Amino acid sequence: MPAEHHNTSVETRLRGIALSPGVAIGRPCFYVRQGSQPDTQPAADSGHELRRLRDALQELVRQRELLAEDTAAVLGAEHAGIFETHCLMLTDETLRMQLAAMVTDQGCSAQDAVRQVLGRYQAQLSAADSAYLRQRSDDIEEIRQALLGLLERTVDCRYCREATACSIGHCELGNDHILIGREIAASLPIETDAHTTGFVVERAGPDCHAVILARALRRPVVGNIVNLPDAIPARAHLLVDGDRGEVIINPTAETLAGYRHISRNDSEVLQTSSPVAGLRVMANISLSSDVGEALAAGAEGVGLYRTEMELLVAGRQLSEDEQATRYSEVVRAMGGRPVCIRLLDLHNDKAAGWLPPVGDDPGAPGRDGHLLLGRPGLLRAQARALTRASVHGPVHVIYPMIASVDQFLALRRLFEESTSDLPASGLQHGVLFEVPAACLAATQIMEAADFGCIGTNDLIQYLFAVDRVSGDNAAHAHFENSNVLWELITDLARAAARSGKPMAICGELAGDPGMTCRIMRCGINAISTSPAHVAGVRKAAKDACAGPADR
Ligand code: PEP
Ligand code: MG
Repeated sequence: MPAEHHNTSVETRLRGIALSPGVAIGRPCFYVRQGSQPDTQPAADSGHELRRLRDALQELVRQRELLAEDTAAVLGAEHAGIFETHCLMLTDETLRMQLAAMVTDQGCSAQDAVRQVLGRYQAQLSAADSAYLRQRSDDIEEIRQALLGLLERTVDCRYCREATACSIGHCELGNDHILIGREIAASLPIETDAHTTGFVVERAGPDCHAVILARALRRPVVGNIVNLPDAIPARAHLLVDGDRGEVIINPTAETLAGYRHISRNDSEVLQTSSPVAGLRVMANISLSSDVGEALAAGAEGVGLYRTEMELLVAGRQLSEDEQATRYSEVVRAMGGRPVCIRLLDLHNDKAAGWLPPVGDDPGAPGRDGHLLLGRPGLLRAQARALTRASVHGPVHVIYPMIASVDQFLALRRLFEESTSDLPASGLQHGVLFEVPAACLAATQIMEAADFGCIGTNDLIQYLFAVDRVSGDNAAHAHFENSNVLWELITDLARAAARSGKPMAICGELAGDPGMTCRIMRCGINAISTSPAHVAGVRKAAKDACAGPADR
């Protein structure tokens, strides 16, 4: 059971990766496998082990066929293919022969045979370069776990603070629950009942089947939340924000009020809208696969592509080719509209475990602008991938966490040196204004850069000493009640105007329709926000700016 180390009355935010959009509220429900037998069984006689193996394979095929039928009925035939593939794997003659040989020739127990043979396949596939093959490795892992579950008579179950063990398909209490698990099997979103409103998971990517099915079922998923289940106290109330990739533990009434307009039904359909005069509204995306949502929302470009999310989801550095494929996909899909792609922004709350640790001090070497200067290999591969993608359409490179013009120029030089052998591409280089020092040097920076963009999330954090990760909810009060931020935004817009270069805004503030008018009054005429907020921002720009009640 998870440790009760949190004060349950305090709001806490855990930052993860947005895998499936929407917002869900509920109590935590923990997903576990419970066993009645020890992990390793000594082999009985081989005839007995072969029968156990055959029965487990047969039973699992039967279960997956039923899942395929259920899935087809709920979501359509194309989604049922996931479980049909599992059936094909389970009935594969070569696999069955290899499993049987482990039992008869090596004297293994049925479960050791499953562990070893499927483990070998899984290891080979998970090391493959192809994303498709890596995905198949998840399938193998899922059937391996399911077979072991049958052989060891373990059962998947769920528990919360009130009920000690419900079955996966049935919540005893009938309350809305958020399912918490280290990993989620593809079968889980189908098998859980309608009371499971969202998922929080440690290890999952946007392409894994469970996430694809959760998206189809309109259930939000946040991934990359570490140390589960201990990170979530059993007595907490949870809000899962699948748009922002955030889990809010014990949200305050004020935080909940901010989500009032987002009901489950609202998030089910992405509203599309047409451009409005005087304001360019673009979309923030995290993964190349999000570009469909940007298009569906009718965005006039991608205003912020958070590329570090691609690496965090992959769990490793991506090669130049892999990055070029992803960036090109987005640029091509946007069909000539601008695509602003941010250089890797891997700081504390988005730290990648496979990079050396990054200091806590905002000024410490190793953070953001510094991070890339200190790791030219990372920048080089990304610079080349971006340059290659730019042959497909306009690419604007955003430099995050820049604190001075010198830092920007040093990074830009490294970028250009890394790509000097590639065909010239018309790339633009811009600065994300999110460090107060950069805002104070805006005139100088805008002389050196091709464009600017304001990142209000970090800017508010560093301006007001508000920790965006712990989420004490003071941030909203700051931008509501303080003129400092608005004066700064106005100054940045003026610096951009003097240099004759564009300035956009892309933090969370930009997606709040209540702020649209105020942002425009500061002299900003380009906003980038989550695809889900594009329509709302445009409506606010059209309706409210003319009315007396605007803020
Ligand atoms: C910001 O800081 O406002 C921003 C856009 O970047 P991120 O939220 O990814 O730090
Ligand atoms: Mg930022």
